[in-house]
Amino acid sequence: MQLTDTHCHLYWNKFDEDREAVVQRAIAAGVTRILVPGTTIETSKQAIDLAETYEQVYAAVGVHPTDAETLNESNINELFRLAEHEKVVAIGEIGLDYYWVKDPAKQRHQKTVFNSQVQIADALNKPLVIHLREAGDTTHGPVFDDLFQQMEFWFDTWLHDNHPLGLQPGVLHSFNGDSLLALKAAGLGFFLGVTGPVTYPKNETHREMIKNLPLERLLIETDAPFLSPVPFRGKRNEPAFVRHIADKIAEIHSKSPAETASLTADNAKRLFAWGD
Ligand SMILES: [Zn+2]
Repeated sequence: MQLTDTHCHLYWNKFDEDREAVVQRAIAAGVTRILVPGTTIETSKQAIDLAETYEQVYAAVGVHPTDAETLNESNINELFRLAEHEKVVAIGEIGLDYYWVKDPAKQRHQKTVFNSQVQIADALNKPLVIHLREAGDTTHGPVFDDLFQQMEFWFDTWLHDNHPLGLQPGVLHSFNGDSLLALKAAGLGFFLGVTGPVTYPKNETHREMIKNLPLERLLIETDAPFLSPVPFRGKRNEPAFVRHIADKIAEIHSKSPAETASLTADNAKRLFAWGD
């Protein structure tokens, strides 16, 4: 069984006591790739440190929308230099968060910060790891519309320039939109990241959405230390638990867990180009 965890905040202080053991448990569970995305310049550096320490770990660098005000003209070059690192395979997590940030001026600023980071992705040809969160946890609201509106400019540019990101722009991390949005995103070449909530008993509509998507468009993510899947719900999440998300997707798509794991690992390999 070969598994990939495409979203894990391994630098988080919840792993300070036993980070080495967490990585070893993941490897023992068959996890051969772990993508660690930063949320600030500081945590992006920590993600790179972990990528330099562990063969299985790769990094994404970026500033999260709830930290948007920490990125400015004086440190964006620093982010660019970090993004050039050979084990940095994506720009993220970047995006829009209207759950924690409700002030319209700050939401506009998130878009500016998002676009300046897409510019780095564009220059270095590295895909995007996108965080989207809606006020009230709706599955089809302004945050999705705003993202697609921002991306319109980029898709025009990329298709015009034959830029590889035009066909494969990145992943919508922990996607919780409805089927309509999922199919639209998939149609634009995005991968959809599936996290622990797919295992929660009440999330029947979410599972329906995932059933409507081809396996070729899905990535499996823990978002550790958050969003633990059943049977670890409420406890600290870790990359070894990615197995439980793979098993649930296998069940939804009537495939074997091994086949699901290897298909989604292939998807990740296609997107992040990290080889065998
Ligand atoms: Zn995250």
